[in-house]
Amino acid sequence: MRGASRKRVLVTGGAGFLGSHLCRRLLEQGHDVLCVDNLYTGTRENIIDLMSNPWFEFLRHDVTFPLYVEADEIYNLACPASPIHYQFDPVQTTKTSVHGAINMLGLAKRVKAKILQASTSEVYGDPELHPQKENYWGHVNTVGPRACYDEGKRCAETLFFDYWRQYRLKIKVVRIFNTYGPFMHPADGRVVSNFITQALRGEPITIYGDGSQTRSFCYVSDMVDAFLRTMETGDEFTGPVNLGNPREFTIRELADRVLELTGSRSEIVEKPLPQDDPTQRCPDINLAQSVLGWSPKVELQQGLRETIAWFDGRT
Ligand code: NAD
Ligand code: UDP
Repeated sequence: MRGASRKRVLVTGGAGFLGSHLCRRLLEQGHDVLCVDNLYTGTRENIIDLMSNPWFEFLRHDVTFPLYVEADEIYNLACPASPIHYQFDPVQTTKTSVHGAINMLGLAKRVKAKILQASTSEVYGDPELHPQKENYWGHVNTVGPRACYDEGKRCAETLFFDYWRQYRLKIKVVRIFNTYGPFMHPADGRVVSNFITQALRGEPITIYGDGSQTRSFCYVSDMVDAFLRTMETGDEFTGPVNLGNPREFTIRELADRVLELTGSRSEIVEKPLPQDDPTQRCPDINLAQSVLGWSPKVELQQGLRETIAWFDGRT
């Protein structure tokens, strides 16, 4: 790729789980990638294979501080995503979402870049509507332990839409539902990484509550595909758009799948359900299907196999 078709793409949070996959894919497409990350939950290991690529640059930087670089497109992914990590330093979590959004929007405005915000299904809180459509405003506890993340992300969405209304910035807001795959942090406490590491070590599988709560799990390659398609949409499309796999599983079903695929003899134990843990979550992806021509392709069985293979040997 040469000249005009090679874009300068900034990925914040690029050393994290989703960010590292995105950087890899953008490089494969021939773009010039600047990965900005403070390595709070991300690691150099996630991007070590990219370091020798002359079109890849890593900058250790905290997005709560201003950043002066040049870019044609910005993917704003910086933010701890797992409940354990985002609740460890909740004030920093809100700052990352809010100040981070302000700084990246300011940058996009100065350099006239398109900017995509990694929002989340958590903006719907513990939803009363099922499955969740983009026009649902959510059911969020503003003062609970998840609020630093949920409200931080909601405020970031507000900022994106105000920059769009006020400055006609080219924005894209994607609401990501639970995503899994290789390069997930093994100790981040998310359900897929927990169950897989527990099964591979022969330790008890910890189901929180009775395991009847549901989630839908999207494989990472499908999610990265959707990010790229969203960025390619015309300026009139802003989102918010739900991205996720609409196939819904109970947490107990997930535990059974992991046990079956690993051949593990781990027992299942029940632990208390964390406060404000959503009981049901499933995206309505009609908008993504119609505007992006996208729907997830990788079945849970196949995605879990690949993820288990990656974790095997690392746990
Ligand atoms: P992750 O924790 O693996 O990645 C987040 C990255 O952001 C890490 O590399 C971390 O070091 C970096 N970061 C955190 N605070 C920062 C700061 N202040 N400055 C610079 N970098 C900072 O999580 P992920 O799963 O890859 O999530 C990426 C994005 O997608 C997040 O914004 C998250 O909220 C969103 N998201 C993810 C999921 C999911 O299921 N994985 C679901 C919904 C939303
Ligand atoms: N969960 C569980 N056991 C674990 C980790 C998580 O049963 O070891 C449950 C958790 O209570 C929640 C679901 O799995 O109902 C998904 O949790 P995760 O932290 O992965 O994501 P989120 O709650 O943000 O969707």
